[in-house]
Amino acid sequence: MIEIAELTKRFGRTIAVDGLSFTVRPGQVTGFLGPNGAGKSTTMRMIVGLDRPTGGAALVGGVAYARHRAPLCEVGALLDAKAVHRGRSARRHLLALAQTHGLPARRVDEVLGAVGLESVAHRRAGGFSLGMSQRLGIAAALLGDPAVVILDEPVNGLDPDGVLWVRTLLKELAAEGRTVLVSSHLMSEMAVTAEHLVIIGRGRLLADTSVDELIARVVVDRTVVRSPRAAELSDLLVRRGARVTSEASGQLQVSGLAVETIGEVARRHDLTLHELTPARASLEQAYMELTGDSVEYRDERERSAA
Ligand code: ADP
Repeated sequence: MIEIAELTKRFGRTIAVDGLSFTVRPGQVTGFLGPNGAGKSTTMRMIVGLDRPTGGAALVGGVAYARHRAPLCEVGALLDAKAVHRGRSARRHLLALAQTHGLPARRVDEVLGAVGLESVAHRRAGGFSLGMSQRLGIAAALLGDPAVVILDEPVNGLDPDGVLWVRTLLKELAAEGRTVLVSSHLMSEMAVTAEHLVIIGRGRLLADTSVDELIARVVVDRTVVRSPRAAELSDLLVRRGARVTSEASGQLQVSGLAVETIGEVARRHDLTLHELTPARASLEQAYMELTGDSVEYRDERERSAA
């Protein structure tokens, strides 16, 4: 379990993380989502003690990371895949890490196998592609068989096979009862990977919810209507206060009126309907609505900085 309470981090005048509180529970994959610059990496760095909070606390298994006696066996983290000793082979990099925790060389070979790097284990890690570096970073995170796994944008730079592999691995780790926190700026990726979502913008919590709850929260006010007498129906709906756009095919996009009302109006005027479909919110729409302000804010800052 990861417990974040009122966590805050300032860099000079920038507030990267702003009074953030949430809990990450074991047994499920929790997606940590937000636009670029939202504060995801800074939060993860504070969880593993790489950045010191300006305020608040981040606890792993009830204890601050730095106070764990064998942190690699408590928390496995992939934060920056390129942060390896470039001249060392993949195997030597992992062996060096293993030695700091008294883990046997056998464990290094196990994780190299688990991430599919056996055949390049003796190659210099500095020459690895981003995808191979991500795999090596994941191997390092799993080395101590930790109960908590934290991965920052792990599918960046992976080919489609690699993306699928990470997705499956995360689900397996969660099914084993581990706590899994994985960040991404892409809702499309988290929608198929995570069961629970923590969404932040400008360092603040925007949502802490299951994927299903998030979809249910978004009301999308748009109905697709088809009728052989579309023009007549459109006039009637506009008179009731709807906004209507007509397509050449006789299809109408109606907003501002409930789907039930549209059906009633059609029945009362004896207009046949061939379609009456309320649009369902996609997770992507839900995410855009939630984070819209945070993204605009950043755009403004970027413009004024330019
Ligand atoms: P994310 O991971 O969601 O993209 P980050 O945590 O990397 O967001 O960044 C959050 C904010 O903090 C950004 O505005 C970023 O520019 C700023 N920031 C992050 N690290 C530093 C740092 N070491 N010094 C100054 N500003 C930083």
